[in-house]
Amino acid sequence: MADPAGGGLIAMAEARDVVVLGGGPAGSTAAILLAREGWKVTLLEKERFPRFHIGESLLPFGNTLLKDLGIWEDLVQGGFTVKPGADFHAGDGHGMLRSDFSRFLGEEFGRTFQVDRASFDHLLLRKAGEAGAEVREGTRAEVVELGSGGVRVRAHGESGAEDYEARWLLDCTGRDATVGRHLGLPKSDLGMAKKLAVYAHFRGVRRNEGAWEGNISIVRLEGGWFWIIPLREGITSVGLVQPMARFREAGGEPREVFERACTGSPEMRFRMKAAERASDWHITSDYTFRHHRTAGARWILCGDAAGFIDPIFSSGVRVAMESAARAARLAGRCLKEGRGLSASEQADYHRKFVRMTGAFLRMIRMFYDNHGFEVFINASGLLGLQRAVVDVVGGNTEPSWGVKWRQELFFAICRLQRWVKFAPRLPLFTAAARARAAAEA
Ligand SMILES: Cc1cc2nc3c(=O)[nH]c(=O)nc-3n(C[C@H](O)[C@H](O)[C@H](O)COP(=O)(O)OP(=O)(O)OC[C@H]3O[C@@H](n4cnc5c(N)ncnc54)[C@H](O)[C@@H]3O)c2cc1C
Repeated sequence: MADPAGGGLIAMAEARDVVVLGGGPAGSTAAILLAREGWKVTLLEKERFPRFHIGESLLPFGNTLLKDLGIWEDLVQGGFTVKPGADFHAGDGHGMLRSDFSRFLGEEFGRTFQVDRASFDHLLLRKAGEAGAEVREGTRAEVVELGSGGVRVRAHGESGAEDYEARWLLDCTGRDATVGRHLGLPKSDLGMAKKLAVYAHFRGVRRNEGAWEGNISIVRLEGGWFWIIPLREGITSVGLVQPMARFREAGGEPREVFERACTGSPEMRFRMKAAERASDWHITSDYTFRHHRTAGARWILCGDAAGFIDPIFSSGVRVAMESAARAARLAGRCLKEGRGLSASEQADYHRKFVRMTGAFLRMIRMFYDNHGFEVFINASGLLGLQRAVVDVVGGNTEPSWGVKWRQELFFAICRLQRWVKFAPRLPLFTAAARARAAAEA
C-alpha cells in the first residue's frame, strides 16, 4: 500500500521511540504498554487533567485490559459505581430488557464500572507517567512529517513551540483526528444519520433499587434515546441523543428539547421528577465515521481518531483501549525488529478495527429500527436470544460460534419482524402514542 505521507528517512538524533498524541483512554493505554516494555515514549496532551469528557459507562469485556494496566484496584478503591448490567426501556413505560452480565457472561465479565471521565482519564494518565512515559499536558500537537523511517511533530506548549522526532506515532487525539486531518484521509459516515447529544450531571434522579442500582438505563423514544448513568456521590449523568434534524424540527435550545422530551416520556418523567442539575449543559455533535485507512508505515490511528461509532452501546472506551493495546503491540514488535509496518500488517490492523466496530454497528442499526427494537426489547422471551444481545451489550467483539449463530438468528428475526409478528408491537411507535407524547410535551 502506498503511504500518502511519503517522505524519506528523518534524521533520528535524540529521537524518541514513540510519540503518542492525546491522553484519553487510547493514548494512556498505548503509553503504559509501550513504556512498560522499556521504550522511550512521550505523550502530548493538549488539556490539563483532570478535565471533563463524555463516555462514562464502561463495558465488562474491557475488564481484562483494565486489570493488565493496573487500574482495576484503583477503580474499586476509588468507589466508582459498580455496573452489573444494562437496562433498556421503551420510553412510554411499556417494555424493558435487563442485561444481567453475571448471569450471561460469567464471573470475569459479570460487572464493570461507571466512571466520571475526569477521574478515570486522570488515573490512566498518571499510570502512563508511572510506567515511565514522559507526559506533557497543556501541549497541543501538530503533525509536521510522517516519513517511512520516522515522524516529526510540533508541540505547542505553555513555553512555546518545540519539535519532536520519533520512530513511531500513535494518534489518539479522539475525534480531533489529527493525522486523519493532516493526511486528508477519506472516511465514511457508515450510513448513520448525524446526531446531537445534550447532557448534564444531576442530583436526585430516581435510580434502580437494590442490586441493579449501578445499571446504565437507556430509554428509547420514538425518535431518539436518553442515557441514565449512575455515578459516584449521588451524581447521575443524563443525556438525550437525537438526529440533528429532529432538534431542528423541535425548535428552541437543545436543553429545551431535552426538557420537553423528558416531559413527553412517562419513564423519564418518573426518573427526573426530583432531579436538580449539578453541572453545566454540554452539547456534542455525534457523527459516526470511520477512516478507510487506519495505519501507515510509522503511524497508527487508535480509538476515536480512527473512527467513532454511535454511543448507544457505550462502546467508545472499549474500542479506544483495545485498539490502542493492539497498536502498542504492533509498534513494539516493529521497534524490536527495527522496521516499519508492512502493507499487510497495516491492512490487518485496519481489518480488525473494522471488525471490532462492526460488531457494535450491526446491533446499533437494529436498535434504531423500530421493528428491530421490538425484537430487541423482547429478546428474553424469544428462543433464548438474550445471550446474543448481552454479548454485544457487554462489549464482546469476538463472540464464540455458540453466540454467533444466535446473533445471526436474532438479526434475521429483526428483519422479518416487519412482516411477521415474532415480538409484540410496541405502543411507543404508534401514531396515537406519538400524538400523546407531543401533547404532553
Ligand atoms: C454523547 C456521547 C456519549 C458517549 N457515551 C459513551 C459511554 O457511555 N461509554 C463509552 O465507552 N463511550 C462513550 N462515548 C464515546 C467516548 O467518549 C469515546 O469513544 C472515547 O472517549 C474515545 O477515547 P479516545 O482516547 O480515543 O479519545 P478521547 O477520549 O477523546 O481522548 C482524546 C484526547 O486527545 C486530546 N487531544 C486532541 N487533540 C489533540 C492534539 N492536537 N494534541 C494533543 N492532544 C490532543 C484531547 O484533549 C483528549 O484528551 C460517548 C460519546 C458521545 C459523543
